[in-house]
Amino acid sequence: MGEIFVVVEHRKGEVREITYQLLWKADDLCRKLSHTLTAVLFGGKDEALLGAVRERADQVIVFEDEQVKNYNGDLYTELLVRLLNEHRPFLTLMGHTPWGMDFAPSLSVRTGYPLATDCVDILVENGRPKAVRQIYTGKIFSRVGFKESEGYLITVRSGAFPIDKAGEHKGEVVKKDMPADLPAARRQFKAFEDTGAGAIDITQADLLVSIGRGVGEADKISIMQELADMLGGVLSCSRPVVDKNWLPKYHQVGTSGKSVKPKVYLAFGISGAFQHVAGISGAGCVIAVNKDKKAPIFRVADYGVVEDLFKVAEALKAKKA
Ligand SMILES: Cc1cc2nc3c(=O)[nH]c(=O)nc-3n(C[C@H](O)[C@H](O)[C@H](O)COP(=O)(O)OP(=O)(O)OC[C@H]3O[C@@H](n4cnc5c(N)ncnc54)[C@H](O)[C@@H]3O)c2cc1C
Repeated sequence: MGEIFVVVEHRKGEVREITYQLLWKADDLCRKLSHTLTAVLFGGKDEALLGAVRERADQVIVFEDEQVKNYNGDLYTELLVRLLNEHRPFLTLMGHTPWGMDFAPSLSVRTGYPLATDCVDILVENGRPKAVRQIYTGKIFSRVGFKESEGYLITVRSGAFPIDKAGEHKGEVVKKDMPADLPAARRQFKAFEDTGAGAIDITQADLLVSIGRGVGEADKISIMQELADMLGGVLSCSRPVVDKNWLPKYHQVGTSGKSVKPKVYLAFGISGAFQHVAGISGAGCVIAVNKDKKAPIFRVADYGVVEDLFKVAEALKAKKA
């Protein structure tokens, strides 16, 4: 029986969703492989954080030292390398997030464990993991095999797995002290800076009203914002809308923006370039409005309306009013 490690991410005292997704998948793999699930928490002294993780893992290794309460790539890498060398877990899951992207390559180099990044699923074949990745900006799924190794490292794309709690756990807590010979960190945490006052998180919205270049000009954005508000949704957009400074970057959906998973995605005046639609593969229902009936967005839409977007927006507002 081996171990599957999950590196817990948190921010401002809250476990991040990616962690719950990793724990869900790790639980699934542990059942199939009869492994145990170990979460690694660099959390400082925070009982709430620890409690949230304990109920989803068999064991939680926690570092309570204040030095690691906030993200520190140098210290996290050093501590993880030591943990991996000590425990030799079969698989270590990390988010394909700024954290994971920062330390996963160093972990791979320093432990010799092979690494697959930005994975959207994990299979097991002949006792070895196989990572599923999207290539050509989401057009093709590829299965990545690993070389023979004692342990494997995978970073997982946000939104790839559910956040649900799988199984009953009451993780045993193993408190670890900072090793006395830990090298001094070159990087220091200073402060959190949000991406802007009133920033919204499009990845959490159930309904997105998304606008593309077809909206035409900055002055028209308010019409679509009103519609989003009336429908109880959040406004998102394609890249040209950000490039033109009509909306801030955190509204952008797509490969260089965010991947979203709303129940309903309303796309207004968006052509459906693959860099955009790669970001909506997790959407429940896609409804596209475009005046060009040949627009590629209709290939991925569940419902399509060939019409001027403002006509449809006004009709929806009138219906809702
Ligand atoms: C490396 C790279 C990364 C990229 N990352 C992203 C990304 O993350 N997200 C992203 O969105 N794009 C991204 N792009 C850009 C992408 O290739 C497309 O250029 C972009 O998605 C097009 O945006 P759009 O659909 O809003 O604009 P367009 O392609 O110009 O489409 C506008 C659409 O609006 C329709 N339209 C016009 N007026 C109206 C009207 N009045 N009513 C109804 N329909 C109307 C038109 O028929 C057209 O289909 C990236 C590109 C590169 C090279």
